[in-house]
Amino acid sequence: MVFINEHYLKLPGGYIFPEIARRVDALGRADPAAAQRIIHCGIGDVTEPLPLVAVSALNAAAAELSRRETFRGYGPAVGYGFLQECISRHDFRERGLQIDASEIFVSDGAKGDCGDILEILGPGNHVAVADPVYPVYVDTNVMAGNTTALCTDGGYGGLMYLPCTPENDFVPAPPKSEKAELIYLCYPNNPTGAMISREQLSEWVEYAMANDSIILYDVAYQAYISEPDLPRSIYEIPDARSCAIEFHSFSKNGGFTGVRCGYTVCPRSVTGRTREGRRVGLHELWTRRFQTRSNGVSYVVQRAAEALYTPDGQKQVAALIEHYLGNARILREGCRRLGLTVYGGVHAPYVWVACPEGVDSWGLFERLLEEANVVVIPGAGFGRCGEGFVRISAFNTRQNVEEVVRRLAGMKM
Ligand code: PLP
Repeated sequence: MVFINEHYLKLPGGYIFPEIARRVDALGRADPAAAQRIIHCGIGDVTEPLPLVAVSALNAAAAELSRRETFRGYGPAVGYGFLQECISRHDFRERGLQIDASEIFVSDGAKGDCGDILEILGPGNHVAVADPVYPVYVDTNVMAGNTTALCTDGGYGGLMYLPCTPENDFVPAPPKSEKAELIYLCYPNNPTGAMISREQLSEWVEYAMANDSIILYDVAYQAYISEPDLPRSIYEIPDARSCAIEFHSFSKNGGFTGVRCGYTVCPRSVTGRTREGRRVGLHELWTRRFQTRSNGVSYVVQRAAEALYTPDGQKQVAALIEHYLGNARILREGCRRLGLTVYGGVHAPYVWVACPEGVDSWGLFERLLEEANVVVIPGAGFGRCGEGFVRISAFNTRQNVEEVVRRLAGMKM
């Protein structure tokens, strides 16, 4: 008999997506014609084809592997030097940020990294997460044993929930007295579509420095930031090199959700400590973890990621972002015309829509499903403070988005 990790049993077993699927199925059985018309605006997966530069790079790299002289087997666990150097230069050094190529860890995406980072951090850290939140941060802490069982109020004991509401523009302020060792922040934000200001991010860095905490900063949607003054990286804030690890993804800029590539920045100056109080660099532990657990991301994929940084690549990525942000604008305007209050969708591909008076997030989900045959995500699925909102994803074709807005126009709220 083998013992299992019982912390997994604390997870409610993916409530939101099965429940959405059940309700969509029910509509299909009751009204097959409506089921044919359904447009999915729920899941945050890209719809547009890969940039041509990435396709060419994939083909060229595959051709290299087909010849004995240029064949490559195992690559470096933390990523090929050509990609680490390219990232360090374009994403950081050219913007005046001191991030060395050796501080870049190439992976198969940000989702895995956001969870795996807990492996090099000990038990007993007090963890702060936003509410509503990208569920991966919460679930991986549950799996790691950093929480109690699910409480009747829908939250887990052991986590500090930071409410994100219209009152604070969906950006929580650091707690006044309570101390969190580990803080997850994600801007542009999934699910609210909100963005953080430089001042607000500075407050968090000051908090982390004052409390010897670490900020886990997720910038999977960085490419959607459409004002130059907003912080694209936490390392734009002085001192962040000593207290922040940053997660990046090529999924939402280069359309790599299926190709799979991302990276983590773990500066050499970020440290944790042992129970006895000895300081240890997390860069050392994260490197060790990669060397033991990974044989790296495939060569062809890393060449495709590199291609996104070429001048043509940058143009093609910009065109994709423009497409999805254009969708977000159309969705925002469509919802507003319906009299709904709308947030997000300016620096992010998500539109966060407040439910009308007296309707909860499942209620608005139902109405949109039945009356417009449009699937969104009820905000309650992202946390208690998500109640009263739905998330509409702008990852779609233009044709679908225009059709969604036409259908919304026929509804009465
Ligand atoms: N982080 C956030 C906030 C996300 O919303 C997502 C995907 O939806 C990810 C990370 C996952 O990124 P990747 O595809 O690189 O694993």
